[in-house]
Amino acid sequence: SPNIQTADVVVLGGGPGGYVASIRAAQLGLTVTCIEADTTLGGTCVTVGCIPSKALLQSSEHYEWLRLHAAEHGIKVDGTAVDLPAMMARKTDVVAQNTKGIEFLFRKNKVTWAKGWGTLKPGNVVEVQAADGTITAWQGKSVILATGSVPVQLPFLPFDEQRVLSNVGALTIPEVPKHLIVVGGGVIGLELGSVWRRLGAKVTVVEYAPTILPGNDDDIVKEADRIFRKQGLEIHTGTKVTGADVRADGVTVHVEKNGAASSIEGDYVLVSVGRKPALRGVDPAALGLAMGQRGEILVDDQLRTNLPGVYAIGDVVGGKLLAHKAEEEGTIAAEVIAGKPVHMHYRTMPGVVYTWPEIATVGLTEQEVKASGRAYRVGKFPFSANGRARTMGETQGFVKFIVDKSTDEILGCHMLGPHVADNLAQVVLAMEYRGSAEDIAITVHSHPTLSETVKEAALSALGRAIHM
Ligand code: FAD
Repeated sequence: SPNIQTADVVVLGGGPGGYVASIRAAQLGLTVTCIEADTTLGGTCVTVGCIPSKALLQSSEHYEWLRLHAAEHGIKVDGTAVDLPAMMARKTDVVAQNTKGIEFLFRKNKVTWAKGWGTLKPGNVVEVQAADGTITAWQGKSVILATGSVPVQLPFLPFDEQRVLSNVGALTIPEVPKHLIVVGGGVIGLELGSVWRRLGAKVTVVEYAPTILPGNDDDIVKEADRIFRKQGLEIHTGTKVTGADVRADGVTVHVEKNGAASSIEGDYVLVSVGRKPALRGVDPAALGLAMGQRGEILVDDQLRTNLPGVYAIGDVVGGKLLAHKAEEEGTIAAEVIAGKPVHMHYRTMPGVVYTWPEIATVGLTEQEVKASGRAYRVGKFPFSANGRARTMGETQGFVKFIVDKSTDEILGCHMLGPHVADNLAQVVLAMEYRGSAEDIAITVHSHPTLSETVKEAALSALGRAIHM
């Protein structure tokens, strides 16, 4: 077996969980080696997730705005057209800026990048096989598993990335589809479906659950569903995909709703029915690693697995599969390893859907609070009553608070509207301090800004919104 090199911390995976854990551990004076098989750092998020999807969402939003809204602003535009290769090249460039940025941060913090596929062996040793077959090995006083997740495949629709696409193929379709079928009406399906719809595709979303975005606040889901349909997305909820015929030039997807069978013809299908923990290089049975019901690595609130000195973070431990969750867990794991008395909590973990309008949420939904039996009040404020939103011509949606009836503590906040992804941050901060609606209501917000909708919704929870 190869010579074993050592480091204080060996991190398996260079996505948002692994690269942040690496940098934080290095900041704390530990020697760190991060093992990443891909040709770049950044993981799913930077290479085939958050960043390329947001690049395409931005470009396609500009295009749609020019076509549908420029005239309202007194701007005449003629001859808009999509230059797909240029749009894709920009996306690739944005991704490269991010991956190179992480490489720079690794050099700055003296994190070693061991390139290749790692396999965890007993004794906290990770064997690494480089692309040329060379094998090296790293032993860590601590090991952090950050191997991420992979898309769930439907047995009758295996990914070929030609006609049957995962997120990877859906970010690189070489033409605007005539008809893109999206199986799964969750975040990824709606975001990527929106991209291609804006660029000119007919897009049909098929969702098994009774609504799109299952698990979100009912009011938000209802309004989002209405808006997305108005934008032209065809949405079939409560609809099961039962089979498919894949041809060289297209796909027929067989569906069933309320017992009635039918089929949908498309030239591409995106399967976005969820993601599952990625365990390449980690053999739980051989290692004796404790696993959960959904194939995730079990950890405590300090990200420790049941194996001594082995931690796990990010998508591979389940929960909300979000980059900022992975980053926070990476930070906490590094700090725990460095001896700091910290732990994870998930009460204030935000979540965003980057459609337009955006959806941003934190904390409990109204139906969750109702089911818990806790007495609560709701505050709501629409963007149509906000001056800045009117100047922008972006008046769809609202901000909704759910607060404890007696203490006024913020239990949840759900937003649908322009730039709510950024607007949510103030509520997350307030909740981090266990703030109340009153705390936000007495805070001065600049006028005219979209952020005033949050103040007004908080005032509304207190029964005293000014502009409504
Ligand atoms: P990953 O990012 O999956 O990284 C794991 C890395 O480990 C990979 O680079 C992989 O190559 C490497 N690896 C795995 N096994 C080995 C091994 N044995 N040896 C060497 N290397 C290995 N989240 C958000 O918060 N906001 C968004 O807007 C958002 N948009 C998304 C859009 C799409 C289309 C998708 C698919 C996901 C999106 N996500 C978003 C989710 C986000 O990408 C993930 O939550 C995040 O990437 C998880 O980080 P991670 O470090 O746990 O794993």
